[in-house]
Amino acid sequence: MQNRIRFQILCFVLTISHFGSAQACKDLIEDSAVYKVSMIYEDVVQLMYGHEDVLSVQILGFSEFGQAIPLLKLENKDVQSTKKPILLVANLHAREFYSSKFLMKFTNQFLLSLKNERCLYKNASKYLEEYIFYIVPLANPDGLKIAQQDWKGIEGHRDEISKIKRIGPYSDWKANGKGIDLNNNFDDGNFHLKHGRLFEEKPASQGHKGSFPGEAIEAKLIQNLVDSIHPLITLSFHTKGDVLFWADRGTHHKFKGLDTKLNKKVATECGLIMARVSQKPKDYAAGLENYVRAKTGTIGVCVELSKPNNKEAQHPPSMFLELVWKKCKNLPFIYLDEFSRLYPEYADLFE
Ligand SMILES: [Zn+2]
Repeated sequence: MQNRIRFQILCFVLTISHFGSAQACKDLIEDSAVYKVSMIYEDVVQLMYGHEDVLSVQILGFSEFGQAIPLLKLENKDVQSTKKPILLVANLHAREFYSSKFLMKFTNQFLLSLKNERCLYKNASKYLEEYIFYIVPLANPDGLKIAQQDWKGIEGHRDEISKIKRIGPYSDWKANGKGIDLNNNFDDGNFHLKHGRLFEEKPASQGHKGSFPGEAIEAKLIQNLVDSIHPLITLSFHTKGDVLFWADRGTHHKFKGLDTKLNKKVATECGLIMARVSQKPKDYAAGLENYVRAKTGTIGVCVELSKPNNKEAQHPPSMFLELVWKKCKNLPFIYLDEFSRLYPEYADLFE
């Protein structure tokens, strides 16, 4: 009889602790709906209040239409040694909210794992001993609002938005609020050569690089961030193709094979394709990844999450878990594990 009671108590305790653990690891980030700018702001605030010990949130700056661009910084302040800065950016392209959701979910799971080792990332705390993370989950809030026809807060700009050349429906919008493709507007030294496949002379919903590099406030803010923190790895998340754009002919030689090794590892483990080394500045120039490679001589990768679907539009929001999260949830840490392993051999590249 006593044994039976003991067993029942044990079951009860196990249930509680299991429930406790599930609760402790519970995701804040919605998995299957459209991810709106207001939801991202709310999630950022919730994370901030839940994890003040390691997470600080600043406003990197404001978009062309005055929307805040949050910058999340994850740091273990108790570790005194010099840490390597890592930059993760999402949503340079307006419609690609999978990328924002991916970074927010990654950040949330990372933070939960720091508090509870039964959560997703078992060695979460070791990354904060070596690295400091700068995360920009919403680089292009105006564009995301336009793509979702979510006019609240930008109503005053409806007129100017309607005058911008629109290629396809609003839901295909890729540019910022002024009709500049942010990932064609970085000052990598090749801006003047850029003339992509979808080239537009004038502001447009996609394909317009701007009149000069850094013309778009949002691109300039991220460029300034890169210049000030000098990240050793920059991952810029997009959402089409399950591809890594990891090298261009102008800078590939600088990395002495480190870029190849890192990206091979990630491509293999996450089931992604490595694009060929981009050959012509006309096609590849002026992206964030090109900027960091050219100007700071550090690793920059454009990560295209989710398989191709031969459409402009992203896959349905309900497929995020299956197409993005399941495949790539470990991706940032795979880069870091491999980078840490190879770093002693390549340290002189970054001095
Ligand atoms: Zn993109």
